[in-house]
Amino acid sequence: MLKILHQIFRTGIVTEPLPTGVEEEIQVVGQELEEAIRRCFHRSLTIRAVDAGSCNACELELQAMNNPVYNCERFGIHFTASPRFADMLLVTGPATRNMEIALKRTYNAMPPPKFVVAVGDCGYDGGIFGEGYASLGGIGKVLRVDAYIKGCPPKPADLLRGILRVIR
Ligand code: SF4
Repeated sequence: MLKILHQIFRTGIVTEPLPTGVEEEIQVVGQELEEAIRRCFHRSLTIRAVDAGSCNACELELQAMNNPVYNCERFGIHFTASPRFADMLLVTGPATRNMEIALKRTYNAMPPPKFVVAVGDCGYDGGIFGEGYASLGGIGKVLRVDAYIKGCPPKPADLLRGILRVIR
């Protein structure tokens, strides 16, 4: 016990302070999200995320939406492993040829009404991967996309704003 206390004392606080204005920004978007989710989805918007070939930076930002700073669950946003429970399909990366069938199957397994949101510049037009032997380009080449959230990668606040845009 003493050893642990000593280590805590020695280490101090290692987290970085939030940039100015971030908390306020999240509060504003969050309130609007909460209201829209309550109105349209009975308080719970469930998302299935699929990586269609990304470099993983977009996934890290998606993960950050769940961290204690952004904590998207407090607004009613949940992630699910099963497309059967999902209201929204969030797709990262370009549409790689190897993921084309999996993407279509995931979409087909979702109950209507359902939304598709392509995340990142890659999701928009293939980004730095473009079109080639392994990549078809943007997610729009495979599915009908309801909204694009651009950025490389987009920040968690941009992701929350993008989701709000679709459901409002
Ligand atoms: S948009 Fe940028 S961060 Fe996201 S998958 Fe493409 S290269 Fe990676």
